[in-house]
Amino acid sequence: YQGLPEQEAFDIEYWLLEEAKLKRLPKPKPLAGRIAFITGGAGGIGRATAERLIGEGACVVISDIDPKSLETAVNDLAGQFSKDMIRGVVCDVTNEDSVEAAITEAAVEYGGLDFGVSNAGIVTGGAIDETTLAQWQLNVDVLSTGYFLVTRAAFRLLKAQALGGAIVFVASKNGLAASVNASAYCAAKASEIHLARCVALEGAPHGIRVNVVNPDGVLRGSKMWSDERRQERAESYKVQPEDLDDFYRQRTMLKESVYPEDIAEGILFFVTEGSRKSTGNILNIDGGNVQSFTR
Ligand code: NAD
Repeated sequence: YQGLPEQEAFDIEYWLLEEAKLKRLPKPKPLAGRIAFITGGAGGIGRATAERLIGEGACVVISDIDPKSLETAVNDLAGQFSKDMIRGVVCDVTNEDSVEAAITEAAVEYGGLDFGVSNAGIVTGGAIDETTLAQWQLNVDVLSTGYFLVTRAAFRLLKAQALGGAIVFVASKNGLAASVNASAYCAAKASEIHLARCVALEGAPHGIRVNVVNPDGVLRGSKMWSDERRQERAESYKVQPEDLDDFYRQRTMLKESVYPEDIAEGILFFVTEGSRKSTGNILNIDGGNVQSFTR
């Protein structure tokens, strides 16, 4: 600062020092101040998603039909982060009043909503000639109707707020690709994907983005993968139940198992700025399953 009066040179140096200090401050988290509602939040993928979104600064309301595992998930997440960032609400996604009440509770709790993650799921039914009407109906109720009710409630709220937002569906590779002995589940999952794409069209003028994440073979941490289902799938694929994890891994291009945390990464992508130009999209997170790749 040669030639400058002493005071001016001092001021510039002081200002540069303050700037440098600011650069060293931790950056605000990308989802700070954002509010997310996740269905099936006590399960493998829902809970991993809650953890990932809270980690990025969001406040999260997880909902589930199972009060006990919901309470455990909320307590665990509150212990891991802060109890201010997580709430739990019991909700049955097949019940219109229950869904409306849960979304309202979430919005009242944190003062609005930014993201809705429709994830709650079950799987039932087998070969078409053995699938009962009750099994078919349960898939339709939880998956098709449940995703409709949650999406409608979230959409109404996001539209009324007029601040945009994101809705993410956790559908399935089975919504794109046919699978043996799972026609009721596959058909219901396919309906979720088409619902998401239709709502993406309606949401776009309001800045509401709607995208789909398709998992496949997420065996670890998933309550859907009961011993009975493992047995049934192993029989369908003609492998031993203890070899099922390896079967799923080997049929991927990457030869990788898929975990709940991998699905949470895709959901995080669809609620953050990096995906601001994406809507109506489908992201398969399945290790590169050739079956869904070719559809
Ligand atoms: P999960 O069983 O661990 O979690 C699902 C959660 O949904 C459970 O906590 C369950 O209590 C809840 N639920 C069930 N019925 C409900 C209802 N009527 N209302 C509210 N909550 C209800 O299973 P996950 O693996 O975490 O699956 C999450 C989603 O991912 C599901 O939609 C599933 O179809 C989809 N998916 C999973 C896999 C996989 O291999 N795990 C593969 C493809 C798609």
